[in-house]
Amino acid sequence: MSYPTALPSEELPDKPEEACAVFGVYAPGEDVAKLNYFGLYALQHRGQESAGIAAFSADGVRLHKDMGLVARVFDEEILQQLPGDIAVGHTRYSTTGSSLIANAQPVVVPTKLGSLALAHNGNLVNPEQLKESLKNDNYELISTTDSEMIAVAIAQEVDSGKSWLEGAKAAFDRCQGAYSLAIGTPEGLMGARDPHGIRPLVIGTFGDNSQHYVIASETAGLDIIGAEYLRDVEPGEIVWITEQGLASYHWSEKPEPKLCIFEMIYFSRPDSIVNQESLYSYRLRLGQQLAAESYVEADSVIPVPDSGVPAAIGFSHGCGITYEEGLIKNRYVGRTFIEPTQRMREVGIRMKLNPLKDVINGKRIIIVDDSIVRGTTSGKIVQALRDAGAVEVHMRISSPPVTHPCFYGLDTDNQDQLIAATQSVEDVAKKIGVDSLAYLSWEGMLKATGEDPNNFCSACFTGDYPIEIPDKMKQNKLLLEQNVSS
Ligand code: SF4
Repeated sequence: MSYPTALPSEELPDKPEEACAVFGVYAPGEDVAKLNYFGLYALQHRGQESAGIAAFSADGVRLHKDMGLVARVFDEEILQQLPGDIAVGHTRYSTTGSSLIANAQPVVVPTKLGSLALAHNGNLVNPEQLKESLKNDNYELISTTDSEMIAVAIAQEVDSGKSWLEGAKAAFDRCQGAYSLAIGTPEGLMGARDPHGIRPLVIGTFGDNSQHYVIASETAGLDIIGAEYLRDVEPGEIVWITEQGLASYHWSEKPEPKLCIFEMIYFSRPDSIVNQESLYSYRLRLGQQLAAESYVEADSVIPVPDSGVPAAIGFSHGCGITYEEGLIKNRYVGRTFIEPTQRMREVGIRMKLNPLKDVINGKRIIIVDDSIVRGTTSGKIVQALRDAGAVEVHMRISSPPVTHPCFYGLDTDNQDQLIAATQSVEDVAKKIGVDSLAYLSWEGMLKATGEDPNNFCSACFTGDYPIEIPDKMKQNKLLLEQNVSS
């Protein structure tokens, strides 16, 4: 099933598409499917193509998944048919495999110890190799996703006589790339991160004496069900939650943290906690740093809502220019079954953002956003501001130019579609029609984290990939490598 969108592709948001969300609950005696539903609901921004929940009870595992938003896929009746003590859930944006129900998650695979259900956020970089090794043992793959390969690899190891934990460890040794996982089994709930911890994964507790556990992509998924944030699952760690409680195993000998910096800048919710503080606070600092680096005289600072809001507030704090809302977002534009008419296409961006003339007219405006990726919408926003009477428009971006694609679970398009990969800042400024354009420096972005800069992946700004990308995979996306390096 495919979903027509309100806007033609050139008018879709000028952002990479989100990764996926995983959510797992271990809570005997509680309505685990419903808790999972709310968790996924809070993490809907991480994937809107499909949603699914698998629940484990004494009778085995029951699964429901379908294409569409969480609220469309589940209702009260469906959730009641998913009883159990353990549940894992997933929302998906397709980074590998096409947008098909067969590729929706969780993936359920039978093993000698009972079925496992796996929810994956990330991307493997050795899927071909893994697929080959799986085929040799006559395991059949029914989807086109690397997530199914991880599930089948665990099943293979378990079927060879290993325990759940030993089987998972052995399977992870065969996987290279980014994977944050929530895995349900009849015995317990498992959470795991690859040795670089590229995608986030957190643990929470709830209930009397904190005896129930939750695993989620972001802390916003814990907040919605009243769970308390315990800690992050560490890079290269497996947490195994059973009736004995939570046990931790560091299976990787060389964990090397490389959290995706784009999670911090844009993907994760601003109310999610990373490194003990909200991403809202980090994004404020990005804006302050940006103001320090690229101040320009103006009358108002306005954000591109909603993604640019914290950085615009930070920019305003940093330079003392008044912060105002100059663009009002239509929150209900998203997926619709009604194709826009030609006239609506012409007004383009106003289906999503409408300028406030009282704020804009006669003013010198600084407009702040978190990133420019394809550059498809920035020009339309600038034109809309000029039509509303702006006398000057200066654009400030709270991240560096995106010059390289992501291979670790985010869809940033091929390199030739990234505007900054082929055009200078001056050329981009000319193309989008601003009086001036400035990006945050790479050093400034990392400094604002307040952490060791080596703990982050920032490859889409530098091309310095922390996990080696096989040549074949590179060839498909790094079409401009020669031009960029010359
Ligand atoms: S390449 Fe960019 S988007 Fe991908 S994991 Fe690294 S920082 Fe994140």
